[in-house]
Amino acid sequence: MANHLTIVMYHYVRPLRGSRYPDLKALDLDHFRGQLDFIQRHYQVVSMQEVIAATRGDVVLPDNSLLLTFDDGYLDHYAYVLPQLASRGWQGSFFPPVRAVREGRVLDVNKIHFTLASGAHPERLIEKIYAELDAHRADHDLPSNEEYFEAYSREGRYDDPRVTFIKRLLQKGLPKTLREPIIDKLFREFVTGDERDFAAELYLNEEQLREMYAAGMCIGSHGDEHLWLNTLPDGEQHDEINASLAFLAGLGVSTRDWVMCYPFGGYDERLLDLLREKGCSLGLTVDVGIADLTQHEPLTLPRLDTNDLPTDGNAPCKNWKASTI
Ligand SMILES: [Zn+2]
Repeated sequence: MANHLTIVMYHYVRPLRGSRYPDLKALDLDHFRGQLDFIQRHYQVVSMQEVIAATRGDVVLPDNSLLLTFDDGYLDHYAYVLPQLASRGWQGSFFPPVRAVREGRVLDVNKIHFTLASGAHPERLIEKIYAELDAHRADHDLPSNEEYFEAYSREGRYDDPRVTFIKRLLQKGLPKTLREPIIDKLFREFVTGDERDFAAELYLNEEQLREMYAAGMCIGSHGDEHLWLNTLPDGEQHDEINASLAFLAGLGVSTRDWVMCYPFGGYDERLLDLLREKGCSLGLTVDVGIADLTQHEPLTLPRLDTNDLPTDGNAPCKNWKASTI
């Protein structure tokens, strides 16, 4: 018998109108409320503990079960999400990268998002990036700009190819020693020179995470630096996982039955072996679909993006089954 579970993935959730970054790819708070109304009418929100028990065959979840997950450790999750969930008596699962919370630095992934939301046209950003690549082409033996565009402009599900190109090239396409200074330069030019201040406004702190955990929320691992873990050598994969487990333990979060959420959805067999060795119970990917807990490997469960669900509480319910995605 099938054991279906819809897992919804959220990132930024905030009031966008009148904010400093109205173009940020975020879910507006009003739309979030509408989506929660929709979920309340058509689904049964379950807790991570229930889901883990279901993967072991200890319980069967109702067919309309839904798990709420929030990636990247944004202050949004404390300020706007927590009150909404608490008032409905629902659990959310939150996945903060260690560096974001601890070090007052803005993660590269977020520098890229806010550069893109700064109002600078993607063409202008691409011109800047091409100028940097031209300057470093000879010493790094880089492919041509056209070859890079061809390789990295096609992967996105929601973005324009130019935006996808900027994100993928800067997230993983270029060598680390080259991409970090380029990202920094763009962030300083188009967003802010005060990274520490920006980080303090963007991310949760440890006290807030403790409060969320005490309120019954689930806190899990999203790695240390928010990297594509499948691109890392073994030693760095270990370091990423160990740092995030030490961080969770420091927060007082139980690391028995802990949950991994892969940054960018990146995992490989080496990582899955390591997670099994470390006692990880569940893994969340960005593969698109409805999980069937009797079929899916528990360490590679698919999710839906918030954009896949209506934001109007009165919208008709789609019959979300794996075959319709
Ligand atoms: Zn993430």
